[in-house]
Amino acid sequence: MQTKTSSTHDYSTTLNLPEPDRKNPNGLDTSQSGIPLRANLAQRELQFLDFWSRENVNAERLNTDTSQGSFILHDGPPYSNGNIHIGTAMNKILKDIIVKYKAMQGFYAPYVPGWDNHGLPIETAVTKEFREKKLVPTSTELRKRCREYAADWVQKQKEQFKRLGIIGDWDNPYLTMHPKFEAAILDVFADLVGKGFIYRGVKPVHWCVTDRTALADHEVEYADRTDSSIYVRFPVANDPHNVFDGYSLGKCYIAVWTTTPWTIPANVALAVNPDFDYAVIEYKGDRYVVATGRLQSLAQCFGDEPTVLRIVPAQDLAGMVSVHPILPRKSPVVFADYVTLADGTGVVHTAPGHGREDFMTGQKYGLPTLSPVDDAGRFTVDAGNSLEGLTIWEGNKAVIDLLEQAGALLAREEITHSYPHCWRCHHPVIFRATAQWFMSIDHDGFRAKALACIKDVAWYPSESVNRINAMVGGRPDWCLSRQRAWGVGIPVFYCEQCDGEVLSKEIILHVRDLVAEHSSDIWFEKAAEDLLPVGYCCPKCGGSKFRKETDIFDVWFDSGSTNVAVLASGRWPELSWPADVYLEGGDQHRGWFNSSLMVGVATKGSAPYRQVVTHGWTLDEKGKAMHKSVGNAVAPDEIVTKFGADVLRLWVGSSDYLADVRLGKNVVEQVAESYRRLRNTLRFGLSNLYDFNPDFDAVAYSHLPSIDKYALHLLAKLIADVTSFYDVYEFHRATQAIHQFCTTDMSAFYMDIVKDRLYADGTSSLSRRSAQTVLFEVTSSLSRMLAPVLSFTSEEVWQKLNLPGKPASVALAAFPTSRVEFISEELDRKWLELRRLREEVFKVIETARQAKEIGKPLEASVTVAADGDTYELLTSIEGELSALWLVSEVIVERSPGATSISVKPATGVKCGRCWLVKRDVDEGSALCGRCRNVLENDCPE
Ligand SMILES: [Zn+2]
Ligand SMILES: [Zn+2]
Ligand SMILES: [Zn+2]
Repeated sequence: MQTKTSSTHDYSTTLNLPEPDRKNPNGLDTSQSGIPLRANLAQRELQFLDFWSRENVNAERLNTDTSQGSFILHDGPPYSNGNIHIGTAMNKILKDIIVKYKAMQGFYAPYVPGWDNHGLPIETAVTKEFREKKLVPTSTELRKRCREYAADWVQKQKEQFKRLGIIGDWDNPYLTMHPKFEAAILDVFADLVGKGFIYRGVKPVHWCVTDRTALADHEVEYADRTDSSIYVRFPVANDPHNVFDGYSLGKCYIAVWTTTPWTIPANVALAVNPDFDYAVIEYKGDRYVVATGRLQSLAQCFGDEPTVLRIVPAQDLAGMVSVHPILPRKSPVVFADYVTLADGTGVVHTAPGHGREDFMTGQKYGLPTLSPVDDAGRFTVDAGNSLEGLTIWEGNKAVIDLLEQAGALLAREEITHSYPHCWRCHHPVIFRATAQWFMSIDHDGFRAKALACIKDVAWYPSESVNRINAMVGGRPDWCLSRQRAWGVGIPVFYCEQCDGEVLSKEIILHVRDLVAEHSSDIWFEKAAEDLLPVGYCCPKCGGSKFRKETDIFDVWFDSGSTNVAVLASGRWPELSWPADVYLEGGDQHRGWFNSSLMVGVATKGSAPYRQVVTHGWTLDEKGKAMHKSVGNAVAPDEIVTKFGADVLRLWVGSSDYLADVRLGKNVVEQVAESYRRLRNTLRFGLSNLYDFNPDFDAVAYSHLPSIDKYALHLLAKLIADVTSFYDVYEFHRATQAIHQFCTTDMSAFYMDIVKDRLYADGTSSLSRRSAQTVLFEVTSSLSRMLAPVLSFTSEEVWQKLNLPGKPASVALAAFPTSRVEFISEELDRKWLELRRLREEVFKVIETARQAKEIGKPLEASVTVAADGDTYELLTSIEGELSALWLVSEVIVERSPGATSISVKPATGVKCGRCWLVKRDVDEGSALCGRCRNVLENDCPE
């Protein structure tokens, strides 16, 4: 064998081995300049949390370069009633990524987190506590306990968010229950009152009879429910267009269909579509009017082939009046274009007190809005003596019985249909007309203005604009009233003498001042006279006795007001209105994006945000929604304690969150694996920089070998790509690009190739310093590019980076800029071809190795016979080829025809230091010429 080594020499200590791998003769830990292979994040991260707090990174980042101006991310407040779940964690991490990125980009980017505190879920939980203790609290006691309950969860969630590495003004967050915030809500209300947006109206609203409160549209969820659907006939009393052709009116009827029999007592009209034709049919001696288009579907009422006497246009039904089948009341025919042929008879039973469309029709025709149902869902005396006191669910059957007795029931059947349910108690809800406070959406062209403002906002993803458009375009007036205790009281007074309402901007501002000082508790604790200015008299009758409104504001009015109360109040001087970005889940097009837009446009004339980012839901690995009860929920804490917050952050940063995202055991394992790859790349860079000071040791670009220039070219392109992805909130594409760079361009390519130079060349040699120059740029840039996502690991790397005068924390460092002078398309083309050839060479080496023609690839000699461009290309970097191909020797020969590659064992002796097989190995020292030279001139020891 030609390859032999002298075993009498151990040159390993003369190599520039990477720091963490160095064996220290005293057995001491010498890894100060590197980072350990095992991340052990769950423990290590805690040190960085302390460090950031100690260094006051949140405040300090506002003192770094802010030349790009301000960038305000306004936090959508989570509700303070439980541990954070994976969706909340994702939401907050995404926000943190944005704020950190913007701060590093030179923006003044303060982050003030907030919480939503008022509302039913907390009130329900607290009420339950009292009930379990068999106590009946006063409203003051109840509210006091609600306040404590909310404060307790704010504290817990705060710690949970901080543990995720989210940096913000945690000592000074906004809370919607803070007296100053409650006062700000009243400022908004006063403004709306002054502008004429607010009115009190009797209107049908979604009403939960269990919780005894009005519900907003978004507090309603749909679920299947089985109900009796009935066909009912209304006797005709007046037929002005002689539709029934003179037939005895006692035998003429209009047929209707309904799935809510309990609303029949509130019937005041029958609606037909003005564009339909209606048939007059005869069945068992009686005559009926139904839509022609529904005839085929009414066999259960009229048999298979009813006799059609004539067909008339809907207009002929104008003025027709029927009689209510069980109450002494008329029910006229009216026109409504929402009447369809999808089901029923083409004539719609109309009860304005129990339906939104019915209500609009009622307004149009001046019909009464009857709602003979109380808060608990029981019929009042107005429904008739025999129904009074029954619940509407009992009422369904009772009404059917009454109709049957009256001979008005044509048919009945059980149907299963999608029906609104309360999102809180999951019981079916009803539409019920009650007196409520509203914000008018069509006041003074407001809806059109709000829709126009939507156009000025950048929506991510772009199609999400359709959702907000649909929500604002179709939304009813905003019902601001809730009949609850835990919230801000609506500051309206009623005169005891004339019952007139006092809805006045000045009076509201008077109450506002009291609330700012004492919290909204004062509204519940003091009498009306103590809340009004001294000596106040009713402007209508001069009376001086008043009672207070008992409704509180919808909590969405609280959160809808955060843009004014937080960004524009001056309480946080670092903030300003409007926000640059809102980022929340898709349901907020109905909720917070919508309510904020209403308040922003009404009070300030434009949208409260410049950009809105919508994220998807968090699902399990099978694509199912996570639920505690199903057992597929992954708690953020589980991941943090097992893998570390950085792994959770990397999952968020590498998910295409604009759509729904998935999480489960396998996904976490995959993310943990890609974390390890990123960490390894950073670790390699750092561990080879222990003796590198960029101020003294960096090599000028022009002196770098081609492959080093190419590595810097790849880095510059990566920085440009990553920056553009971060700019449009596509973090998963940024992390993907970084991951690709680390694994393909660095670990499997550049870092593999420069190992020989780094370890075996002279410590201060140009070749080694060149590689270190590149590794320094790469490691320093990667740590900063990854800092918004991998905040902990980036900090760990940053602390070890030998960069004189560096900022104390990576969060205070500038985001790397893409150096255009490093970008070279020529280098790119050249190295693309060299990398292709490298793969070919590797294939030939592998074949030869398997055929046992060579031993270790490192000890091989490769001969390439090539011509033309390939020959020119290879000879242009001939000295670098053996390092590039990880072999001992490369011979390039000019030869016409196709390129051919051959491999054989290298001729010579294996160097005892660098293990390459060289012809110039000295027999005594067992060193090759390069290594002899290094040891003579530049021994590292
Ligand atoms: Zn309910
Ligand atoms: Zn009065
Ligand atoms: Zn050697």
